[in-house]
Amino acid sequence: MDYIVLDMEWNQPWPGSPSSKKVLPVAIRGEIIQIGAVRVTEGREVADEFQVLIKPKYYRHLNRRVSKLTGIKESRLRDEGVPFPEAMEQFRAWCGEDIIFLTWGFDDIGILRENLRLFGLAEDWTERWFNAQMIFNAQTDGATAQKALKTAMEIFGIEATRPAHDALGDAYHTALICARLDLDKGTREYAQALKSHENGFHGAQIPGCIARKVFYDYADKRAALSAMAGEENECPLCKKRMLGSRWFAQPGHRYMDLATCPEHGKFLIRVRLSEQPDGLVRVSRLTYEATSEAAQAYARRAEKADPEDQIPNRRRRRRRNASGEGKAVAE
Ligand SMILES: [Zn+2]
Repeated sequence: MDYIVLDMEWNQPWPGSPSSKKVLPVAIRGEIIQIGAVRVTEGREVADEFQVLIKPKYYRHLNRRVSKLTGIKESRLRDEGVPFPEAMEQFRAWCGEDIIFLTWGFDDIGILRENLRLFGLAEDWTERWFNAQMIFNAQTDGATAQKALKTAMEIFGIEATRPAHDALGDAYHTALICARLDLDKGTREYAQALKSHENGFHGAQIPGCIARKVFYDYADKRAALSAMAGEENECPLCKKRMLGSRWFAQPGHRYMDLATCPEHGKFLIRVRLSEQPDGLVRVSRLTYEATSEAAQAYARRAEKADPEDQIPNRRRRRRRNASGEGKAVAE
């Protein structure tokens, strides 16, 4: 069995152009114009490489943004590109039979399958694949979701020796990262890594994080944050209700708050909101020790806080209900 690290570049019609109005027999997010792949053996040796340029059939004009990003010119695709079915034949012959695809991100395999379908070609050989980002996150202590390739390379101390945004260059760099991961373990534990990703938990260990929990089915952001500061604001030690201070918004629908248990002191709460398929709101909640790096970051943030940052509790006040419990109430 070999791992095939795959990266592709694809073309999209310029918005409003005649190509963009074309109705294709199969909807595609982009038409593949370049495939780069590097083989990583079961023993995690970075082995041989494959590259092919593809002459687009449906979106013949190269989007200038794609051209700028990839450095590929339309004339080069015309001169050196081969039709997609021929490129696939070459690619499959190079791959061999017993393969598992690894990609950096979720997009590539989906786009490959759309293109195969559009050309009426078999898709079953792409069945075994994994997003290497998820394995990377599970085996490092990454704190953000989908890491840029460049960031992952920096974490592993890998120098870029190939051009970025070139399919083979990106595939090669990804292969260097994959060769340092425990791929066997990563693929075995992939389902768990995916679930963690979905729940907003990134990384194997987050320093100082003492509790993780997911909550479902809030009507909206306000209801979710209100529950997080109210009835679900449990002390991780005694499970009693904690008092919150205020939410600070962070990028990516994330908020943080410093909560206090009368008995156990302060804890940093970080939540990430995401929309469920049914439109309701899901919350991933992380509780950190107040001495953790994350809590110290909160304290620094709170010190130099701009009132504009303090949402959405800014327009609320705390009331005490009959039972004397604090509850965030919208005014
Ligand atoms: Zn407590």
